Amino acid sequence: MSDNQPQIIILLGRSGCGKGTQAKLLIKEFGFDYLSSGKLLRERSKKDDFTGKKLKQVMDKGDLVPTPVMFRFWAGKIAEMRKKINKNGLIVDGSPRFLIEAKLMDSAFEWYEWDNVKVVLLDISEQEAFSRLTKRRICKNCSRLIPWVGEFKDLEKCDKCGGELETRFDDKPEAIQSRLDFYKKDVQPAIDYYEKQGRLIKINGEQSIEDVYQEIIQCLHQ
Ligand SMILES: [Zn+2]
Repeated sequence: MSDNQPQIIILLGRSGCGKGTQAKLLIKEFGFDYLSSGKLLRERSKKDDFTGKKLKQVMDKGDLVPTPVMFRFWAGKIAEMRKKINKNGLIVDGSPRFLIEAKLMDSAFEWYEWDNVKVVLLDISEQEAFSRLTKRRICKNCSRLIPWVGEFKDLEKCDKCGGELETRFDDKPEAIQSRLDFYKKDVQPAIDYYEKQGRLIKINGEQSIEDVYQEIIQCLHQ
């Protein structure tokens, strides 16, 4: 890791690839800051004004918040982080969703003079994503999401609170397929953009959580 510049890691991959899990591990180990687009939007949607209500409406329907709106929050957040970011770095999760967002993020990072940006793709096949998403479960009691990987497959009760596990209401096959179709059509061009520039670090996301994590750590030291 560079000594004088915080490390920016953009995590990419299909739904179910384990981005959230890996982000948590990295934050715990290195004290990175976390910039999650989903979290930003959910927080903003709690405000009782036009934008808050509209965000809530759009997200409840499972629709996408358009790029100009998304980017406004995103850019505000990175400006804020530029002032106080810890020296270790920042994990970006949930953006870019489109080619244009990849380009916008590049110019934003350039403006804020953050040039230590790594783009990490946790690669899982569409089939694996589909299987993980249809089989993952949520705790009825504490809402903990239990991924369908490794030892979590054997859990019968929530490992945090002992609550009952059930399938998430939005993990219906049609909804999952539409998320995967979105990835193919809209996210893939952003990934191709990084790949063409030789910036894409591709990691096999179908390995164990620990192996994926170790590979990410290795690429941080390169
Ligand atoms: Zn629980």
